[in-house]
This record gives sequence, C-alpha cells and structure tokens, in this order.
Amino acid sequence: MIREAERSADAIELRLDYLPSESLPQLIVELSSRVARVSKPLISTFRPREQGGKRDLSLQDRRDFWRGLPPEFVSSIAYADFELDLVESFSAEGPPVPWEKVICSWHDFEETPHDLIARYERMADTPASVVKIATQANRIGDCLRIFELVEHAKGKKPVIALAMGLPGLMTRVLALSRGAMLTFGSLRRGAESAAGQPTVAELHDLYRVKQLSRESEIFGVIGNPVGHSRSPLMHNAALKVLNRDGVYLPFEVDDVGSFVCGFVHPKTRKLDWKLRGLSVTIPHKLAIIPYLDFIDAAAEAIGAVNTVVIEGDELPRLCGYNTDVIGAMKPLDEMIDVKGARVAVIGAGGSARAICYGLSRRGADVTIYARDLKKARPLADEFETKLASLESFEGRVDIVINCSPVGMSGHSEGGSLIKAESLEGVKLVYDLIYTPEETALMRDAKLAGCRTLGGLAMLVGQAAEQFRLWTGLEAPMDVMWRAARGD
Ligand code: NAP
Repeated sequence: MIREAERSADAIELRLDYLPSESLPQLIVELSSRVARVSKPLISTFRPREQGGKRDLSLQDRRDFWRGLPPEFVSSIAYADFELDLVESFSAEGPPVPWEKVICSWHDFEETPHDLIARYERMADTPASVVKIATQANRIGDCLRIFELVEHAKGKKPVIALAMGLPGLMTRVLALSRGAMLTFGSLRRGAESAAGQPTVAELHDLYRVKQLSRESEIFGVIGNPVGHSRSPLMHNAALKVLNRDGVYLPFEVDDVGSFVCGFVHPKTRKLDWKLRGLSVTIPHKLAIIPYLDFIDAAAEAIGAVNTVVIEGDELPRLCGYNTDVIGAMKPLDEMIDVKGARVAVIGAGGSARAICYGLSRRGADVTIYARDLKKARPLADEFETKLASLESFEGRVDIVINCSPVGMSGHSEGGSLIKAESLEGVKLVYDLIYTPEETALMRDAKLAGCRTLGGLAMLVGQAAEQFRLWTGLEAPMDVMWRAARGD
C-alpha cells in the first residue's frame, strides 16, 4: 500500500489506528525500518473513534502509544497528527515528537460549526506547527465557512481545512488553490478514510488540483443527487485536453436560492472565485429560473434551464439556456429528416418537453404516448401535438423516441414500454437513456430492422453546447465521448 501511495501521492498519511491491535507493537517495529526508506513525506495518525478513528482509545492510550514509538520511526516521519486534546495534554511536558512535526487536528462529524475561526485561533496558539480542521458539510453553504477559515489563516499558522461529505467536495478540490497546506485523497474507491473523499487519481487527473489557482475558472453542475453525474468527467476532460485553466465540480445543492446568493451571483456571492458556468440538473431546472437575469427563447419555451452562464465583471448577470434541445436534436437531424415524419414520443416529462419543442420547430407530426393522459395534456396542448395512451401504441410511425426511464439501469433495465412487434416498419428508434448504452428497446428495434440512436449522443451533445456557451470554444467531441463512456 505504501508503495502504491508513493507512486501517486505527494505525501502519505499512515493511519496507524487501522492496524490490528493484537500485533500493533510488532507491526510498528516492522514499519520503523520501512518508513525510513519511503520517498514521500509521511504523516502518522492514531485516531480515536470519536475523532473518526478505527478504535476506542482513551487520552492515556494515545499518550502511551506516541511515547512508546521507536525513535527511528519518529525521526522518519514528517508529521504526527495529534488531536487537540492530545496536543493540550503534552503542552506542559513536551510531546514525544518535536513540535515542528506536530499537526494539531480537530474533527466534527456532525456539522460545520460557526466558530471555526475561534477554534483555529485556539489551535494555532498551541506549539503545534500546523492546524487541521475537518468538519461535516450537511449542506453546500457550509463550505463558505471552510473557505473563510483558509482565508483567515493566510500569513498565520499553516492550515489544512476541509468539509467532509459530498456537499463539501469543493473544499477538498479548491482549498489547496486558496492557500490550504494539503488535501486528502484515498488510494482507491472504497478505501476512503472520510466521507466524500475523492481518490488521489481524481484529485490529480480529473480535478487537476495542483494546477489550480485563485485565477482558475470554475464550472460545475448543481443538482441533488449529483454524485452520479457524468458531466464532471466530460467537462474536466475537455478542459484538460484544451489546457484551459479551469475545473468543473459537482455541487450538491438543496436550496437553489441560497446557493445562487452565496456562491453564484457576482453581486451577492460571498466567495471570491471565478465561477463562469453551471449545468443545472434535476430537481433545479425550473427552480433556477426566478434567479436569472436573462433567459433565452428556447429555455423559456421549454420552461427549463439546464445551463447558466455567469457573465462579465462589468455587467454581472446570470443567463439561462437550454442545451438539451440542441443536444437531443442534432444527432437525430444527422440521421433522419424529421420534417413531416410521424414521430411517437413515449413519456411526457422533462426530456419529452425538450424533444417536443425541437420536433415542433422542425414540422414533425408528433404523437405523445403517456400513461397519464391528464398529466400529459398540457404538454400536448402547448406544442400542438396529438396525445394517446401508451396501451394504444401500435406502431405505424417513422420514428419512436423513448423519453421515459423504462429500460434504464438501476430503474428497469431490460424493460421496454414498446412491444417489439409494433416496431415493424419504424425507420428509427431513439432512446434517450444512456445507461445501458444499448437498451432492450434498441435491441428489439435492431431485430425489427430499424436504425437506432442511444442517449449518449444527447448527453455529449448538450454538454458540448454548454462548453461552447461558457468558453466560446468548440468542445473536443471525441474526448467528451470517451469521458462520458468512462473509457
Ligand atoms: P421525467 O421528467 O421524470 O419524465 C419521465 C416520463 O416517463 C414521465 O412522463 C413519466 O410518467 C413517464 N414514465 C416513468 N415511468 C413510467 C412507466 N413505468 N410507465 C410509463 N411511463 C413512465 O424524466 P426525464 O427527465 O424526462 O427523463 C426520462 C429519461 O430520459 C431518463 O431515463 C433520463 O435518464 C433520460 N434522459 C436522458 C438525457 C440524455 O442526455 N441522454 C437527458 C434527459 C433525460 P408520469 O409523469 O406519469 O410519471
């Protein structure tokens, strides 16, 4: 494990509390000879359970452990992480590790309290040389307090500050660029030592944390949940290949209004950063609209915004767009002329709205097939399409577009709302689902001799258009495709 960490990390934390207690003394002796040969600085930690460690340890247990460490071990490590109570217990008599090697740490696994600066001052007053504060982010707004802390510590004692949990991810990625001493990454997925911890590979290769500065442009996706989004993969890959100084982050947002106020709008935001653009996903595509200064015609007609451009310092304003239409229609246009074509739209939710808008502008002959006709009626009326029940679908159309989640992995993979026999004679079947890349509907369609189009083209297409709106650059499509596929 140490060898693996040496290859990828700049410093390595040895979590000694993870070692089995029965053989701990023996293992420490064995480690002592090994640590002297490690090429990267080592941080040793022996955490009690209440501070996020693996074992029940009294203050006395921890004091005895550190006092009992072999001198060669102590001399080989760059830092020892002592919790605040341990630091204070050693204050009078002196620690078993020189103070210049001591990180004074404090964790809160419940919340991010409001008194972080006072806490930092108390910890900075100890003889330890570095202060580490890690708190639980229950909502994204908690990150502001972590950034305030990093700002406060500038020119004072070095600080490591981060918020745990997915809402806190931006602190793990950006704190370094804003002056924090280091950030933590796990060796592998599933080997995290705290919630929301990215892997070292993600920090280096996806977010490029070491290249970021306060001048770097920031982009991101707001949604809830947002952890599954492929947008960070696509946009970060595009930024990287174009050598653009920027990063794209997932923002787990529950309250759009306070996020826009605290983080986004240049007139009100409390974070001094170069936030340039946002993707907007479920459930915020409608909720974002009241906070925008401008909304383009397509987004207005669809009634949903999936892209926000944060414009200029001189005339700061938030502009909303909908790139789902262009993302969905471009690959379709490339395969077939929809003008006058008989199109069956299956489902009447958010994506069906974008599809109906695109089809109606192209003069297609559209019928929406829905399970709940009452619910679907406003959409059909708005775009002047026909409406029919799902059970009544019998084929005899040119194009079928699935805008329902039926067939999606994790939902109903292998299922389809369309009977295979009704696909006879259909020219093209378009499934907006992108996991799996080939759905049961698409397999049935191929067997029936139809051409097929999967949802990945739309996913990449709408992201590419977002990238163009934010940066003015053509997106590197092949790179985005590979990233979206997870290649
Ligand atoms: P949505 O707003 O929730 O709409 C889903 C629609 O499907 C609703 O009309 C819903 O009917 C209907 N539906 C759901 N389950 C059904 C069932 N078992 N039987 C019959 N109808 C059912 O979702 P959405 O945002 O439009 O997304 C739909 C699908 O498109 C998802 O799989 C999503 O991943 C995919 N998508 C892909 C992209 C892309 O970039 N490729 C973009 C957006 C969406 P009720 O209203 O009666 O519940």
